[in-house]
Amino acid sequence: MENRVIVVGAGLAGLSCAIKLAEKNIFVDLVSLLPAKRSHSVCAQGGINAAISKEDSAFIHAYETIKGGDFLANQPAVIEMCLAAPSIIEMMDSFGCLFNRTKDGSIDFRNFGGSLYKRTAFSDASTGQQLIYSLDEQTRRYEEKKIITRYEHHEFLKLIKDENGSAKGIILQDINNLNIFSITADAVVIATGGLGVIFGKSTNSFACTGCANAALFMQGMKYANAEFIQIHPTAIPGHDKLRLISESARGEGARIWVYGDDAKTIEFPDGSFQKCGKKNEPWYFLEEMYPKYKNLVPRDIAAREILKVCNKGLGADNKDQVYLDVTHLNSESLKKLSSCLDIYEKFTSEDPRKIPMKTFLAVHYSMGGAWVDWPASDDSDRDKRFRQMTNIEGLFNIGESDYQYHGANRLGANALLACIYSGLVAGDEVNKYISSYKKLNTKLSIENQIKDEIKRQKKLLNQMGKENVFQLHNEMSDLMLKNVTVTRDNKSLKETLDKLREIEERSKNISLQDKSVQLNQSYLFAREFFYMVKLAQVITKSALLRNESRGSHYKKEFPKRDDLNFLKTTLATYNADKNDVDISYEKVDLRHFDPMQRSYEKEEFVPSIKNFKKFEPVL
Ligand SMILES: Cc1cc2nc3c(=O)[nH]c(=O)nc-3n(C[C@H](O)[C@H](O)[C@H](O)COP(=O)(O)OP(=O)(O)OC[C@H]3O[C@@H](n4cnc5c(N)ncnc54)[C@H](O)[C@@H]3O)c2cc1C
Repeated sequence: MENRVIVVGAGLAGLSCAIKLAEKNIFVDLVSLLPAKRSHSVCAQGGINAAISKEDSAFIHAYETIKGGDFLANQPAVIEMCLAAPSIIEMMDSFGCLFNRTKDGSIDFRNFGGSLYKRTAFSDASTGQQLIYSLDEQTRRYEEKKIITRYEHHEFLKLIKDENGSAKGIILQDINNLNIFSITADAVVIATGGLGVIFGKSTNSFACTGCANAALFMQGMKYANAEFIQIHPTAIPGHDKLRLISESARGEGARIWVYGDDAKTIEFPDGSFQKCGKKNEPWYFLEEMYPKYKNLVPRDIAAREILKVCNKGLGADNKDQVYLDVTHLNSESLKKLSSCLDIYEKFTSEDPRKIPMKTFLAVHYSMGGAWVDWPASDDSDRDKRFRQMTNIEGLFNIGESDYQYHGANRLGANALLACIYSGLVAGDEVNKYISSYKKLNTKLSIENQIKDEIKRQKKLLNQMGKENVFQLHNEMSDLMLKNVTVTRDNKSLKETLDKLREIEERSKNISLQDKSVQLNQSYLFAREFFYMVKLAQVITKSALLRNESRGSHYKKEFPKRDDLNFLKTTLATYNADKNDVDISYEKVDLRHFDPMQRSYEKEEFVPSIKNFKKFEPVL
């Protein structure tokens, strides 16, 4: 009997998983809202990490990733990812990805945040585009052989479970004509990316709503570490969207500064208060505060320092923005950054090669996501559990939409690695999962579920309430941006949670002007909004209950990390009876490195790894 798997999402994670499954002759239905080449992965600029140079090693990469994530990542998963990274670069190279080369023809590597090693392979500043085009070509080969079937412009609506609760298919809708139907399979893989749209303005694309994960959460999927939202330190301030200026700019030597003022003082990382540079002279504050890592401190730290400096009234042109300066870089470095410098020029009409850019913080990435299992290679029950499988049997989750690998803060250029790696891993694990169970003819009550979805669709299209969904979205995203980003406090989080519940209530009274079923964008948005409000509550409640500061989560009244009470993964579960979010916690797997206080002021020694025995290559 043929095996069939549904992969939802055609970004880097979804494509790598589809290719791995197809290699094993498993038929794949590849469902995505957008065509693969328009998936958000195409926007990735700076690069993808792999420890390849002689001085570097996969264990140093793993340690820096774990330390960068403030010790909240499960360590075996991170170590295996870092060990696999060099072969992933080799694989992508063999697929024809155009990585930059050194003069001797080897792949070139650049610096990125949170590390002093040149570890980031790149294609100028359009790495995501080169990677996704290369993977897309590979999927075409299998499409030609009818092993992969694409459903582009289709939206995931709901998981179909059998009577034992295992994933056996999905209900989806064609977004061009709102036709609702189902496809069934032996397993389902979700690879639907990030959730920036919940915060309104972000560096993410409009399709990054987190809705598929939110719908699955309401169907019983656990969601982990939702409170950890990464704020990128350098994006172009804008009214519609915040366009990223990649960390690769700083990797190539860009410097962040503001005009100093020696009448003001600011707290340095060692707790001392020092002058804010000299009056009217450029003050390179990150370089003074973190003399070893300078402008390449991890993003959570850079973002908080930039906010602190702007709150002192030192922002460029007295606004919330700082200078990001590449004017001193040589032409070779500028060329490597051309794609992101061109974006700046296009949207500001200023040439960043001549005038320092002005940038500020932007919501960028979600470390949290679907909880997925990760049995380590030498765990005694390794054969009974499946990596990347959620708590729903047969439902896997990969890429930015899962929570594994980054802990409380992601290091730059580790996302692309995690996406491709988790996709390849899931390909193997899904195959093992399918082979391990006997196919039973379980009953699937699909017809009724499709009828329910059609009923919901009709209701939303025809209801005559007084609320406007775009207005509600603005209210929600304003709250989330103000209270659930760089600094948080319990009073505002509590108020935000209450208001989100009110907004959820009001969203039942939305009415839509466009009631057609052809290309109805406002209907699609209104449907997604229902799920966005729920996910916003998951994020806010998880943040409210974590009374410490760790990685991207910083609470004014609890400014220190509290390992005694909070060195644990947050798990959110949907309480259907109360239509509410329940929070519990799970231990972090710390078997290889002991947690230490993070510091980036000076170079730190990397401890040797403990208890490491076995590694399972995915290539
Ligand atoms: C501007 C920018 C630059 C970045 N640069 C880097 C970098 O240099 N290095 C790095 O490591 N990381 C970078 N990142 C992060 C990285 O790009 C993302 O984390 C990664 O590309 C996510 O890949 P993905 O496959 O998980 O999701 P995506 O690429 O977002 O793909 C998600 C897929 O799911 C589909 N989808 C979504 N919802 C649904 C639904 N309901 N139904 C059906 N389909 C759905 C979409 O159509 C899409 O095909 C950057 C991020 C941004 C915003």
